[in-house]
Amino acid sequence: MKVGIIGAAGRMGRILMEATLANPDTELAAAVDVPGSSLIGVDAGELLGRQALGVALADDLEKVVRDAEVFIDFTVPEATARHIEVCRAAGTRLVIGTTGLNDEQTASLRAASEDIAICFAPNYSIGVNLCFKLLETAAAVLGDEVDIEVIEAHHRHKIDAPSGTALRMGEVVAQTLGRDLKECAVYGREGRTGERDRRTIGFETIRAGDIVGDHTVMFAAEGERVEITHKASSRMSFGRGAVRAAQWLGGHQRGLFDMQDVLGLTGDSAGWGR
Ligand code: NAD
Repeated sequence: MKVGIIGAAGRMGRILMEATLANPDTELAAAVDVPGSSLIGVDAGELLGRQALGVALADDLEKVVRDAEVFIDFTVPEATARHIEVCRAAGTRLVIGTTGLNDEQTASLRAASEDIAICFAPNYSIGVNLCFKLLETAAAVLGDEVDIEVIEAHHRHKIDAPSGTALRMGEVVAQTLGRDLKECAVYGREGRTGERDRRTIGFETIRAGDIVGDHTVMFAAEGERVEITHKASSRMSFGRGAVRAAQWLGGHQRGLFDMQDVLGLTGDSAGWGR
């Protein structure tokens, strides 16, 4: 399957190109990064410290959108919003890893999925997606008897907080408990906060050094607590998962999917409103 990478010069972009080359069923057919970058025109192989691959870094998705059957986009929300429209117009499938999309951008993504197949997940690691399932079970069993806190840590370059994965973990728990995350989330605490309301879900964020991505959801009761933790030690876990999603998307013409669909982990609360 022919795969194109958008944001190819970035931290994840380079990993995604390596993951595409490492997969025997996928072929690197295009690479795109931001206009004005000094790397535009450079061969993708050179970006990876390999021999030339015959794929030059393009400065606009529109120029190469028909060169691949599916594109994988790990960039920034404003860029992803445009790429959704370019792929929609060309009828090209899209795997989106960019986090921090606002409500309007998420709505346009949903609308585009009426015409093309889109996979959108805040975290493409298989372990994290397993954790989403474990969180459903924990929330269903422990219910309203516990205080729930989501704690995440990432490297100092990350520009959004809390992480998309932390928010999704909160959503999974909130949906399982019949709560609306927008109403029950508490982000950070400072000063005289008063006693904790049990129906809230707290989020704490750490930004430090080169941490790839740690997430813990704590369910704390009187006398005991359960913690579900995932720690990513290499970005390749996201890269392999996203390429697997791209392959899986090849079997679909339209619709909005996430990693739960790709992995065959069914369950209403972890998916996109199914
Ligand atoms: P990065 O800054 O290293 O890379 C982003 C790349 O996108 C850069 O090369 C930048 O030049 C490029 N870019 C910006 N605007 C562009 C445009 N208009 N057209 C084409 N390219 C453009 O960041 P990163 O660490 O690689 O992360 C990228 C995104 O992926 C972030 O939103 C991050 O949170 C997310 N992420 C998601 C997962 C997941 O599993 N879903 C995992 C890791 C990171």
